[in-house]
Amino acid sequence: METLDLIVREYIKRTPTSAQIHSEAQEVMPLGVSSNFRAIQPHPLHIARASGTRMWDVDGNEYIDFNMAFGALMSGHAHPLLVRAVSEQMQKGSLYCIPKPESSQLARELIRRFPIEMVRFANSGSEATMHAVRLARAYTGREYLIKFEGGYHGGYDTALVGLKPPARLLGHPAHPPSLPASLGIPAPVAERTLVAGFNDLAGVRRLLERYHNRVAAVIVEPVMLNLGICLPQDDFLARLHELCREFGVLLIFDEVKTGVKIAPGGACEYYGVRPDLVCLAKSIGGGLPLAAFGGRREIFSLYNDFSTFHGGTYAGNPLSIRAGLVTLTQILVPEAYARIFDLNRMLLEGCREIVRRHGLPARVDGIGSMGAILFVDRPIANYRDFLRMDTTRWRGFWLGMNNLGIIPQGVGFDEQWTLSVQHTQEDIQRYLEAFDRLAPMLRS
Ligand code: PMP
Repeated sequence: METLDLIVREYIKRTPTSAQIHSEAQEVMPLGVSSNFRAIQPHPLHIARASGTRMWDVDGNEYIDFNMAFGALMSGHAHPLLVRAVSEQMQKGSLYCIPKPESSQLARELIRRFPIEMVRFANSGSEATMHAVRLARAYTGREYLIKFEGGYHGGYDTALVGLKPPARLLGHPAHPPSLPASLGIPAPVAERTLVAGFNDLAGVRRLLERYHNRVAAVIVEPVMLNLGICLPQDDFLARLHELCREFGVLLIFDEVKTGVKIAPGGACEYYGVRPDLVCLAKSIGGGLPLAAFGGRREIFSLYNDFSTFHGGTYAGNPLSIRAGLVTLTQILVPEAYARIFDLNRMLLEGCREIVRRHGLPARVDGIGSMGAILFVDRPIANYRDFLRMDTTRWRGFWLGMNNLGIIPQGVGFDEQWTLSVQHTQEDIQRYLEAFDRLAPMLRS
């Protein structure tokens, strides 16, 4: 595609220092990065600093950031309240591994927002979902987990199944396979993760009947934000919960991305569902590594006699707890939500108008503080719909917007943008202007 070549050439021309650093990094780090998600072609940007909604790369290019660290920064970059709070805490020591009074304050704030009674803290979304799954297995005495095809819940063996299987291995939509998404996952572990299609209640019921009394939990990202934007249809989540109850199976909401971002109380509040366990991370920590998982007191009582394990050197560390408290009590306050949701409506509407006017083969979907331009011909209801995405056009969009000084969303056509408390109407305007300029190239 000639247009894409032009866009890539421009990207390379603008970022020679990033290219150089990347090539040196590759000598000592596989793909030159610390997370597979950051390895992009022709090379990732290397960022020198970030503040508010702006980022500057090592070549001195300025960007308005709409990725916000894969949605972890609804506070924006270097929020002044966080800079102050974290610096003060640093002076008092960053790590004690002995309890700190603020932890339970933060737990109470989460309990106020979410329908949960007890909380434990961890460092990443992966840890939160891993411990929630273990709790569910311990509580029910069962081993199988049901997840949805295409869903990402973290980088450990049980979760890395049915992630993004290639189309040729998918088989019949009613029976998605339990394909491990990495080498190094023992087959008996992968086999214990069963896979259903999102929005397919009949598929979940089939699995629950077939594996009767052996399924511990169903884990679901209530809005599948690892498939661009894939919304639950009708009352899918409420009916999924009923189905879980019918079979004595726990329902785990993975709210790593939706939690505190589509409503103060996440998808639980937005969809009015009270799952058995809720997993949180990303935006609750204001950019510091903070995760939490919470649920019913009775389930969490399993920790009381030490029969079930959760722990970690950095779990509930003072810096992250401080950052979490400031984020949830001083930054993500009701007025901030109202403002961000208004800005997001403006961005979504603006993008839709540009898509229409230029006749782009794309959709614009969004929820809460998030949105995405999806190069598909119909709404994404599950992983198989997501595979219809025109990835070449998406690449032109992402790199082309970078060339115009906008990081339009997380890198990866399964990602979306996140607006932060620091985004302004002017930022939105700049996004729309850049998209409008790029659109004729994307149509070709
Ligand atoms: N669950 C979901 C829904 C996620 O989007 C992610 C990360 N993108 C994770 C879990 C894992 O979180 P982390 O990268 O913090 O381990």
